[in-house]
Amino acid sequence: MPAKVDENLCSGCGLCEETCPEVFQLDDNGISRVIGDCEDADCCEEAAENCPEGAITIE
Ligand code: SF4
Repeated sequence: MPAKVDENLCSGCGLCEETCPEVFQLDDNGISRVIGDCEDADCCEEAAENCPEGAITIE
């Protein structure tokens, strides 16, 4: 169940990093990157659901 961020949708709001820093981290361009395994983090689905741009998918 890896998480994916659509960089074309991500606005860089930082909410996913705030909610789940084990999995999401903003890169130097202010776009969220997946840095961890979604399965290991209880916060991952919450972060995906709360993304205001719908940029996070969990497969
Ligand atoms: S919550 Fe969504 S829009 Fe905001 S930084 Fe994360 S992926 Fe990007």
